[in-house]
Amino acid sequence: MKPFRYLSNVWNYDFRGVGEGANARYWMAIGVVPCLLSGILVAIAGPLDGPANLLLGAARGEVELFGHSFNEGQLHILAYLGVAFFASLMIGVSLHAFFVLAKRPGRESWHGMYWANYLTHYVDFLMTAVVFLFAGTILRFIFASDQSRYEQGEGFFNGAVGGAGSRIDHAMPRLYEIPFPFSVLMTVGVLGLSYYLMHRLFHTSRLFWLLAHRAHHVPTVLHPVNVGPVAIFGFLFAALPQTLVIASLSGLFPSPMTATVSLVYFTLHGASDVLSHNSATYAMVYRSRILRGTTHFFSTGVYHYMHHSSKPDEQMVNLDAYGPFMIWDRLFGTYRPPTETPPVVGLSNSPEVRLNPFLIAFGGFQQIVYELRMNRSMATRAKILFGSVGYKPPISYDYLIVGYAETPENAQAEED
Ligand SMILES: [Zn+2]
Ligand SMILES: [Zn+2]
Repeated sequence: MKPFRYLSNVWNYDFRGVGEGANARYWMAIGVVPCLLSGILVAIAGPLDGPANLLLGAARGEVELFGHSFNEGQLHILAYLGVAFFASLMIGVSLHAFFVLAKRPGRESWHGMYWANYLTHYVDFLMTAVVFLFAGTILRFIFASDQSRYEQGEGFFNGAVGGAGSRIDHAMPRLYEIPFPFSVLMTVGVLGLSYYLMHRLFHTSRLFWLLAHRAHHVPTVLHPVNVGPVAIFGFLFAALPQTLVIASLSGLFPSPMTATVSLVYFTLHGASDVLSHNSATYAMVYRSRILRGTTHFFSTGVYHYMHHSSKPDEQMVNLDAYGPFMIWDRLFGTYRPPTETPPVVGLSNSPEVRLNPFLIAFGGFQQIVYELRMNRSMATRAKILFGSVGYKPPISYDYLIVGYAETPENAQAEED
């Protein structure tokens, strides 16, 4: 059964130690490729995904931007300028972080960790693409007779969500046209709250944690391309409900300014987000009043970095990623101010993991399947699927985590 053995080798290949020693130079050279690609990829799928894509789609006819009237064509040009700005920023910040972090002393297996986590996006991307192509085909089938303008929406991936949202917005009765500042507050508020609640669910439900979010917390050094905006099925689990809620609201309570201002908001939010997953810029952002203030406003940067802390009691802090000013964490009591020394980041208690993109992406999926097969009791099976992250069934196997180093804190955690 040779093909299976090859497949199994690829599936279990551990990137640890890759790029060390004689080949280091070669790995430094190819390591810049993801940084360059990151800009191109965000230009294609980044700032126009989910809510922003929907809002662009919802911007039908004339839209006012700071007192000037823009038509849809001009709005698109503005949107593409935003994308170009975002893409070049992403490339610049990624390259800077790559060279700083690759040379930082004390790192363990930088190249292995960088590549394993980076390639996880592609594994996830392919999987999500398959799901969305499938969903897109169904949507196209359902809406085939509808001659609305955002038809390309159902075709692919993020367009599927944008297209569905746009149609809901379109189909909603217009209840009340609310004044512009309130509509923006409402859009941002609803987005922030829905994201907060989804993110909280990702960290409390073991199913959501294992399938959709654990991969995002694996890296032990944060770089903009190895912990990117793509998390396993995150798009499906988070962007879809969010987009649908916002689409319904923007349909019920329309305002001509919402779309434009939200586009500007999401572009600036996205720009500040390049400082969120970045171990190279933590100290600089922490010290700079302007950068820290900006990331505080958007709930990104060092504020989000705290959320990646590997201290078990900091699992549930700073879940808000849209703001303003970490408002939902402050309201729900999960706010933690950033510390001067950056926290140690990664999974809780810093376990040793298998550095392999398939296992990072699907290890949780394999674990759930294994547990369902091996634990025969229906009550146990229900807990496997609907239990909290703290639950561990009698028979279980972790495909990603190899073990924990013996430290006093870990010994304590074991006793609890
Ligand atoms: Zn999280
Ligand atoms: Zn994050």
